[in-house]
Amino acid sequence: MSQSPSDRQSWKRVLLAPLAAPGVSRMLAGLTGTSATVFMLHRFAVPELSIEGHSPEAVGAILAELRKRRFNLISLHELFRKLRDGEPLNRAVVFTIDDGYFDHASVGAPVFVEYDCPATICAVSGFLDGKIWLWWDQINYVFAQTRRKELTARLAGHEIPYTLDSPQARRQNSTALSFLCQDASQSDRLACMADLLREADVELPAAPPPEFAPLTWDEARRLEKKGISFGPHTITHPILSRTSAEQSASEIEESWARLRAELQDPVPVFCYPHGRRRDYGDREMAQVHRLGLLGGVSGHFDFFRPQLYREPPNICRVPRFGFQDDTYSVLQCASGLASLKAKLRGYRA
Ligand SMILES: [Zn+2]
Repeated sequence: MSQSPSDRQSWKRVLLAPLAAPGVSRMLAGLTGTSATVFMLHRFAVPELSIEGHSPEAVGAILAELRKRRFNLISLHELFRKLRDGEPLNRAVVFTIDDGYFDHASVGAPVFVEYDCPATICAVSGFLDGKIWLWWDQINYVFAQTRRKELTARLAGHEIPYTLDSPQARRQNSTALSFLCQDASQSDRLACMADLLREADVELPAAPPPEFAPLTWDEARRLEKKGISFGPHTITHPILSRTSAEQSASEIEESWARLRAELQDPVPVFCYPHGRRRDYGDREMAQVHRLGLLGGVSGHFDFFRPQLYREPPNICRVPRFGFQDDTYSVLQCASGLASLKAKLRGYRA
C-alpha cells in the first residue's frame, strides 16, 4: 500500500525533528557556518475582510516552539550590530514583516508582543503617509471590481488577454499580471495600469479600500514602545533596478528620512522591494552604504554564513527566508538545514 502525502510528511517530521534540537543545530551551524536566520512575513489573515495570510495562532505556536528550543530571538537591528561587530550569532532568529499593512499592527504585532519576540516591519513610507496604495493591490482591485468578463492588459508592447469568469480566475489573473509587472520598467508598469483602468472601466479610489490599507504612524509609534521596530522599504515600492538612478537614490534616502521624522528609533537596515537578485544591485547597495545604514536585507533565499556578511557589499544583501505557518519548515530553516540544502543545491554564498 502506498503512503499518502500526509503519511510521508509525518514520517519526514519524525525523522527530521531532532535536527532542530539545540545540540544538533549547533553542530549544523558549525558545519555550515550558519547560525542566524532572517524570516520574511507578509500579510496576516483577516477573515472578515477575506484577507488570506499568516494565522496568528500558527505564528504564536511557532514562536513558542522556538523559545522552547532555545533559539535566540533577536531584533533585526541587533543582528546587524552583531554582524558589523563580528560578534557570535548563535542560533539567532530574526523576524521581518514587509510593507506596513494595517493587519501587521492589528493581527501580527500582538502575537510577537505576546511572545516577547522582536519583529521589524519594513515600511513603505508613502503608504503609511496615505499618499499611495501598493500597486499590486491596485491590480487586484481592478480585476475584482470590473464588470467585464474579459480584460486585455498591455504591457511593454505585449497584449495579454485575461478571462474573468469567476472570483478565482480574477484573483489568479491579477496575481499573474502582478508577476509580469515585477519585471517591467516603472514607466511601462504605470502605462499598463493607466490603460487597464480605462479598459476595465474602473475608477481607483484615492485611498486604498480597508482590505488594502496601511497601518498609521500613530500605531507605529505605539508599537515601537512594545518592541516592534520599523525599517525603510522605499516610498512607493518600485523595483529599484528598473527605476532611474535619481529615483532609486531618493526612494532609499527619503524613506529613511520619513522614518526618522516619525519614529523614535527606526532600524538602519534597508529592505529592497521584491528583493530578488535582479530587483536591486550595486547602485542600491552603494546608496545604502553611503547613507550610513548598517546594511540591507533581500527577499531571496540564499546560503547565509554570517562571517561572509560582515562587510559591504554583502552586509547590504543579507538573505531572508519566506516564513511558512509550519513549525517543521521554520525549524528546518532556523537549524541551518535549509541553508545547508541551499548550499548543496549550488546557491551562491
Ligand atoms: Zn515589500
